[in-house]
Amino acid sequence: MSNVHIIGGGMAGSEAAWQCLQAGLTVKLYEMRPLKMTAAHQSGDLAELVCSNSLKSLLPDSAPGLLKAEMELLDSLIIRAAKGAAVPAGMALAVERTLFSKGVAEALGSFAKFERIDLEITSLPTPEDLEKSGDVWIVASGPLTSDGLANALQAMAPEGRRLHFYDAIAPVLEMDSINTDIVFKASRYDETGDGDYWNVPLNKEEYYAFVDAVIAAEKMPLHEFEDVKYFEACLPIEVMIERGRETLRFGPMKPVGLTDPRTGRWPYAAVQLRLENKQESMVSMVGFQTKMKWPEQKRVFQMLPGLEEVEFFRFGSVHRNTYLKSPDVLAKDLSFKVSPRIFLAGQVSGVEGYTESAALGLLAGRAAAAKALGKTFPMPPADCMIGALKHYVTEGGLGDFQPMNTNLGLLPTQPKVKGQSKIERKAFQARMARETFARYQGINS
Ligand SMILES: Cc1cc2nc3c(=O)[nH]c(=O)nc-3n(C[C@H](O)[C@H](O)[C@H](O)COP(=O)(O)OP(=O)(O)OC[C@H]3O[C@@H](n4cnc5c(N)ncnc54)[C@H](O)[C@@H]3O)c2cc1C
Repeated sequence: MSNVHIIGGGMAGSEAAWQCLQAGLTVKLYEMRPLKMTAAHQSGDLAELVCSNSLKSLLPDSAPGLLKAEMELLDSLIIRAAKGAAVPAGMALAVERTLFSKGVAEALGSFAKFERIDLEITSLPTPEDLEKSGDVWIVASGPLTSDGLANALQAMAPEGRRLHFYDAIAPVLEMDSINTDIVFKASRYDETGDGDYWNVPLNKEEYYAFVDAVIAAEKMPLHEFEDVKYFEACLPIEVMIERGRETLRFGPMKPVGLTDPRTGRWPYAAVQLRLENKQESMVSMVGFQTKMKWPEQKRVFQMLPGLEEVEFFRFGSVHRNTYLKSPDVLAKDLSFKVSPRIFLAGQVSGVEGYTESAALGLLAGRAAAAKALGKTFPMPPADCMIGALKHYVTEGGLGDFQPMNTNLGLLPTQPKVKGQSKIERKAFQARMARETFARYQGINS
């Protein structure tokens, strides 16, 4: 019978292992820790939470709440172990981290067909070898994938340059919360169409007040291991401002070609917002990578004209990351187009966060198990939360593909109903997602 080989015993790899064991398969899980540590992990434990101990909200109408509920219905080990190790945290699911890891290890270890092998994997089998053996592999090596394996993954991305290493990410905003009486649509020098970008106009006074606020804002302390060189194309705005108060105006806040319809002129400076999804519910701040603390990001960015009420789907952050530009290299079942018996899961596939990584591990595990058994696993549809996340990884992401955490903006936009509050609208979206998932489960069970 076919074996499943999983690289990485983190959130995604552990979840994938559980799904494959449940399907009756033999699983070999390769984890390089503690023999070779990453820059962030502290132990050799499976499913180690590298930073916060929270798996975020349990509120049923929130995106993380929806995702966890769907995962639980799909028999997620990570959610089960988290609930078993939960500590009081209001409406969030926070855990006692060593108890959580122990729960995961014990659940996997209870299967005779499970073997953990302490080993760093640096190469992947060829499609021909896998065809012969019938084995399947799941790569779940996380944001701190070892260099040897990163090189092997690079080789799997046919045209190269598909493997991104980057240190900083820009915030993603909720389009609905932006005042479009002020923020205007235009592309530089495009006089024909409406323009693809939304633009936040600043006058001289607003620009310098904003620069001063960024300089004064509290920044996230970087760990020693994160003291890496920034890519010049991906500099945090604070680093740019260190080079001079004008740098932003000649960089990401360049106003050239952006005619403000309210004045008929170019503003003194402008922040550009780029669509993140086809539903046009999310936009990212172009070139606005930042290491300001999250409450400071909210305070400082809400100073920008038209963004006074803005809500954040994701804050900017700075840390090392390794991920593939998955929509180019993965098939819809999370397997590599060039090697259909190798699957990708977790943060390396283009999601961000503990639960999101586990969710992708769950789906890759199910899909890989099905392939090993000569079957097909029907992926959840894109209008439930876990399906939306998977859809983003295999088919989503306009322009620069950036790792995504779960948020309601990934779900199809619901038409606005007159008089409906924002909370009611989100509740409606969540209900639609729940109904879709229930129908999917009906089909899938
Ligand atoms: C510094 C830092 C802080 C973070 N803080 C948070 C947070 O507070 N909240 C949050 O939700 N997310 C956080 N994240 C993101 C979080 O780490 C990931 O979302 C999540 O752990 C990813 O799960 P994963 O299974 O994809 O990777 P991991 O959980 O990292 O698991 C990957 C595993 O693969 C192993 N591995 C790597 N290369 C090899 C190899 N060649 N051979 C064998 N094994 C290998 C690693 O040792 C690791 O155990 C943080 C990430 C970093 C880097």
